[in-house]
Formats: sequence, structure tokens, C-alpha cells
Amino acid sequence: MRVDVRALVARLLDELPIVDVHTHLYDPAMGELLLAGPDELLTYHYHVAELFRARPDLDPEAFFAMPREVRADLVWRELFVKRSPLSEPGRGLVTLWRAFGLDPGAGDLREARACFAERLRDPRAHVDDVLARARVREVCMTNDPLDPRERACWERGFPRDPRFVAALRLDSAIMDWPRAVPALRALGCDVEDGLSARSIDALRRYLVAWHGRFDARYMAVSLPPEIGYPDGGQKTWLALLERAVLPAAEELGTPLALMIGVRRQVNPRLRLAGDSVGVPDVESIERLAHAFPRVRFLVTLLSREGQHALCVAARKFANLEPFGCWWFVNVPSVAREITAMRLDLLGPNFVPQHSDARVLEQLLSKWERSRRWLAEVLGDQYADLAAAGGVVDEARVRRDLIAMLGRGFAR
Ligand SMILES: [Zn+2]
Repeated sequence: MRVDVRALVARLLDELPIVDVHTHLYDPAMGELLLAGPDELLTYHYHVAELFRARPDLDPEAFFAMPREVRADLVWRELFVKRSPLSEPGRGLVTLWRAFGLDPGAGDLREARACFAERLRDPRAHVDDVLARARVREVCMTNDPLDPRERACWERGFPRDPRFVAALRLDSAIMDWPRAVPALRALGCDVEDGLSARSIDALRRYLVAWHGRFDARYMAVSLPPEIGYPDGGQKTWLALLERAVLPAAEELGTPLALMIGVRRQVNPRLRLAGDSVGVPDVESIERLAHAFPRVRFLVTLLSREGQHALCVAARKFANLEPFGCWWFVNVPSVAREITAMRLDLLGPNFVPQHSDARVLEQLLSKWERSRRWLAEVLGDQYADLAAAGGVVDEARVRRDLIAMLGRGFAR
């Protein structure tokens, strides 16, 4: 009976068409913004961070000055040829190589480059194939009107691929104020350097307008671990969040995703690989949920610390929705623990995972890997329910899985 329940859960999870609630992928119509292929995959910042551990003698400036192909070759040689790729990103890439019939023991990237060059001759067909094989039916992008390359696409207009839905990213507009002021003004947003009523109102209108233009599902911002809400207006970003972003979220009836815990650029020489983690301030999240009961907060934490407190907070505030195992906690050892705890405390009312994919093909490897530990954790949970005398059958398990992973934030 135990074995049957686990096998049932694993099979249904395998078949489930996933809604991926957070990625850095783009609609294929946005052209080169959608990253794909072996050189992008190998120079992903997760691997780059591990390269510098394997090769402490390597000078970061010299590394980043190399052409992308040379960097990819170096990562391959150091992390996949000279050592076993035992880390989660390493095992993920091996999963991907196998999925495309490539040899993960190859001494170089020649075969992989030839294979992907062939596939990318028809990028649309490749996108269709990756989504179909990953069993992902919808992908949330991360969209920033202040990114000039991206904005050019939106201003030009393009036929939207309905599988790629938008999320309005706020970091560049609110986290480094007033650095964004000239760029916002160039978009016709009438803000000033100071936080005058005019600035706040203009920023709120900017958010509402671009949310509409993107047809966005939600707004999102990545926050440092220490939030300190309320702080009487000391931190500019928090004042902008409270006075412009949250009123816009209320007006639009759209959720706000808070991705909490990044300590930016603790080692700037490593660029994208140079961010670290801090212990998040969950009490501030509770106070925000309390102060803005009509806003739905989607929350993911970068650290293992704080995950239990977040589950408890979500039991107190139905407008708090934990989601995903993000970046440093997207490793099976920690993700299993977090997910089991969320199930124990919240039942099936949360979103267990997102991919955070930056390169198209990562949809395949990241979901393949996540499905494994999800099947273990959910299998245990349903087996325990069955042992307690609960009814566990195909229809019930499928219904729960769709609610957790197949409908995104639609709950
Ligand atoms: Zn992300």
C-alpha cells in the first residue's frame, strides 16, 4: 500500500503540466533576450561561483574578460571533466545533457555545441520541444520597463506567446532611489528626487500603466534580509513600497511577490555570482500582511533560516503565500525539509516550487530535478495520510497537485 501511494504520487507529478511562477525567461518573440544553448548554460552564475571554489587561483577580472565560449570551456573542464559534478547545479546540467542525448563524460563541448546549433536553427520549435519535454504549460517572466533592451520590445509591440506571462519587476525603479529618477522621467513618469506627494503619485501611476501594458500577473521585488517595517520613513525603498507600490497593488488587485534575503554583491568581483544570503526579518512580513490585508503577498526566502517562521506567519495571515525553494535553498537536502514542513503546517495551500530558470533549457533540468524531491516529500506525506486511514486516490492527488503546481498563484 505504502509503495503504491508513492508510485502514484510520482507518476501524477511526472504527468502534471506545471505553471512556473518565477523565471528569468522571455517570450520567444523578444529574440535574443531569451537565452539558450550550452555557452549560456555553462556560464550560468551558479556554475561560475563553483568554478572559483575549484580554482581559487583564477582571477575574476581575467575570467570575465574571456570570450563566453572560453569561459564555458573552462567551466566544463574544471567542474565536469576534472571533478565529478556532485553539486545540484552540476547534477542539473548532467540531467540536461542526458535529456538531449549528449555524453556527460565528454572531454569538451564540441558535441553539445553542434547539437544545440542544429536545434536553434528553428528557435520556435526548440522552445516548443523544451516546454513539452519539461511538461511546463506556462512560464512567468520577470519584466522590467527600465531595461532598455526589454522596453524596446514592448514599445515596438509583438504577438504574445500565451505560454509566457508577465510579472512587473520593481527593483530597478524603487531599490536604488533616486538613481531611477532620470530613467523614469524619460518614460514620462513625473517623479522628482525627493519623495514628494507628486513623486509618489507619479510612481504609482507608472506601476499601474506598465502592469496594464504587460498584462502582468503580479508585481515582484527582491529585498534585503532586514526590512525593518515600519521604520518611520527612514529607508527610501520601504517608503516607496508602502506609499506607491502597495497602493498600486490594492488598486490593481494584483499580488506582490517579495523575494527576501539577498545580500547584494558581498563579493563584487564575482558579478552575478557575488550575492550572498542573510537571515530574513519575518516579523516585518507579518506587519506588512497585517497593515495591507487586501494585498496578497507571495513570499519566498533565500535562507534556510526563517522558513519555519514564514509558515507560522502564513497560518496567521491568509494573504501571505509562501512559494518555491529559491536559489540557495533550491538544493534537494534543504528543499525536502522546507517542503515537508510547509505541508505539515499549511496542507496543500502554497506553491512548492518555481524554477528561476535563466536559460531556456534549464526548465527541463530544474523541473526534472525538482519533481524528484517533490515526489519523495509528497509521497511520504500521502503515505502517512493513508496509514492514518485517509483516502488517497488518483483523483484526490491530482486535484491537490494541480492546486499546488498546475495553477500558479490562481488560488
Ligand atoms: Zn529570480
